[in-house]
Amino acid sequence: MSRKKSKSFLFQNLVGKSITFSIAEQTVIDGLKPLIGGEWEGKIKSGCTVKRIARNAVVTSIKHKLAKIQGNYCIYCGLHEKHCGRLEREHIAPKGKTSYPEFMFEPQNLALACHHCNVDLKGEYDTISNKFKSYSKCKFNIVHPYFDPIEKHIVFAVKNGKALLKAAPYSRKGKNHIKLFELDSVPKTDKRTGLLLVESLKIESKYDKMLDKALNNKFVRR
Ligand SMILES: [Zn+2]
Repeated sequence: MSRKKSKSFLFQNLVGKSITFSIAEQTVIDGLKPLIGGEWEGKIKSGCTVKRIARNAVVTSIKHKLAKIQGNYCIYCGLHEKHCGRLEREHIAPKGKTSYPEFMFEPQNLALACHHCNVDLKGEYDTISNKFKSYSKCKFNIVHPYFDPIEKHIVFAVKNGKALLKAAPYSRKGKNHIKLFELDSVPKTDKRTGLLLVESLKIESKYDKMLDKALNNKFVRR
């Protein structure tokens, strides 16, 4: 059985869904250029006329915009924030000084991810295997949420009640993605499996209540 959608976890792609900036927001972003690292938070660099409060407002609004298109699921492990902790703004190609600061405000470089995937597992990992000036032309070595339909790279299956996944045949990106985010580790598989079980119990308990009601009304007289 193929599975990519559920209430507790969701492996989604964001193809055609990236956020957009208002003219005012774009003016703030343009005012921060050239982006060389450090423009995302903290002090505004000298010589730049953008106010810190305006930059912070743009960064805050990015999170709300992303939540609208992505829901509250980590883009990498697919878990709902109820199960993986508060989601953070994640730069798919890292934004650090020695990485790709120029893609810091690129809409297709922004997504929401849990702290574990974002910081513990990915960190400053270089996701670009072949860089071009234009972001959309770059070649990525993980499944890119805006460019790669995830089902082409990762195969999902429920077997013997376990929520399993593996790389699609010949998908290097799928293989690398699973490895980087430890998606097939025992704890992650157990977590997804547990969530599936809880979901199925929820459905059963609904029937149990109906059954109880029917029994109490019709057959049980005390
Ligand atoms: Zn995650």
